[in-house]
Amino acid sequence: MFKPEKFRNKTAAVLGAGKSGICCANLLVKNGFAVILSEEKKLLSRKLKEKTALLNSAVLFETGGHSEKIFKAGFAVKSPGIFNHSPIIKELKQRKIPVFSEVETALSLSKCKNILAMTGTNGKTTTTVLLGEIMRMTGGKVRVCGNIGTPVSQIADKAGKNDCIVMEISSYQLEDSSYFHPRISGILNITPDHIDHHRSMENYIKAKTKIFTDQEPGDYCIFNHADAFCLEMSKNCPSGKLFFSSSSTWKGLNAAFENGKILVNFKSVKKSIAPPKLPGTHNIENAMAAALMALAAGAKFCDVEAAFAGFKGVEHRIEEAGTIKEIRFINDSKATNVDSTLIALKALGRTRNIWLILGGLDKGSPYAPLAPFIRNYVKAVLTIGSAAHKIEKELKGTSAIMSSKTLKKAVETAYKKASRGDVILLSPACASFDQFSDFEDRGRQFKQIVSSLKKICHS
Ligand code: ADP
Repeated sequence: MFKPEKFRNKTAAVLGAGKSGICCANLLVKNGFAVILSEEKKLLSRKLKEKTALLNSAVLFETGGHSEKIFKAGFAVKSPGIFNHSPIIKELKQRKIPVFSEVETALSLSKCKNILAMTGTNGKTTTTVLLGEIMRMTGGKVRVCGNIGTPVSQIADKAGKNDCIVMEISSYQLEDSSYFHPRISGILNITPDHIDHHRSMENYIKAKTKIFTDQEPGDYCIFNHADAFCLEMSKNCPSGKLFFSSSSTWKGLNAAFENGKILVNFKSVKKSIAPPKLPGTHNIENAMAAALMALAAGAKFCDVEAAFAGFKGVEHRIEEAGTIKEIRFINDSKATNVDSTLIALKALGRTRNIWLILGGLDKGSPYAPLAPFIRNYVKAVLTIGSAAHKIEKELKGTSAIMSSKTLKKAVETAYKKASRGDVILLSPACASFDQFSDFEDRGRQFKQIVSSLKKICHS
């Protein structure tokens, strides 16, 4: 556990100059530590300038490799992207220099101990944002942060004692934390992911388990009862356990889904709540997890209902991007793997009316699991990016396949050929880096193309 008083007057070596590394370096300086921020990569001068501008001038900044200086530090803080088995972490440990995570360092420098933490393989961001909305309804001050774009280090010293920190925490961040104590935690689902980083499914699960290992009996952890990994993990949970499931019947659960309503049973009070108006069973699960976490944190049923009624989802996740001549455009740019595209097809598929834009940078998984859903729900697949050839080969025979190369061409082709009632869906099952700076850039460009089509249509 990082105890700031134990390291007073010592130098901190912060490894990795990403957003969380920069925020953590600044936070440590503010708290009186000498800090060296050390980045392995050599940065282009524009990037270097950008990063330096964000740093407190008291931070010593080195790039293009870690120097001997970091081994003179009293402790190190590791950015989540750095492998635990990397030579630099091994060497720090060999030299008996304690290494802490950015999350635990930041939280130990915060007055706020009212922490609600969400993890899982898929749906973390959506659920964290929804949980933040519910907690806002309670009238308290809420800080939404973590793996969601705002590092914990950015809000740690601003959060007051009575505020509520709602955070998304990834397996990388959990793995690195030697102590992490949220008052309320939640695990949405577990499927094989990030195995390259964790090196085995066992290690991945071990990392996720850390969300509750330091919890105490008065705390709560929320589990997906229908997920075999979650269920197994819950057996070792020391805090109060609450279970949800979208597929099991009501008995014994704290949240279930029946006749279009979410049924919640918390501390023997039962209530039926209308879910947020979002497509897909996965969003029902996200809503159930958020509701139980919020109730365990002290929110009232009416707070949950009010937040659900106003929740429009999160950008780039099965997001409505407009309708032209009764043709719906949907931006699911966050679907960067095959599983996520499957979720979108399950959520949106009714008849064979989807024009599916697939492709980008291939992530090495097969596209074949999409085949039955494409046969049932997709009129044509439009391929883009460097994965196009592989997709075309693997999905041959499932539906019409149109090689479009660019996103613009794909959207325009689909629009030209679509009929009223059709859906043009960007759910690419690939990373974006071959043609875009990230999935957000890809989603925004998709929406811009749709806006341009709208203008042409109305002019
Ligand atoms: P994360 O932060 O874990 O990546 P997001 O909320 O950003 O999760 O959603 C990413 C993608 O994961 C979505 O596009 C959707 O396809 C899928 N997804 C969302 N919620 C769930 C869920 N509960 N179960 C399975 N997949 C989900």
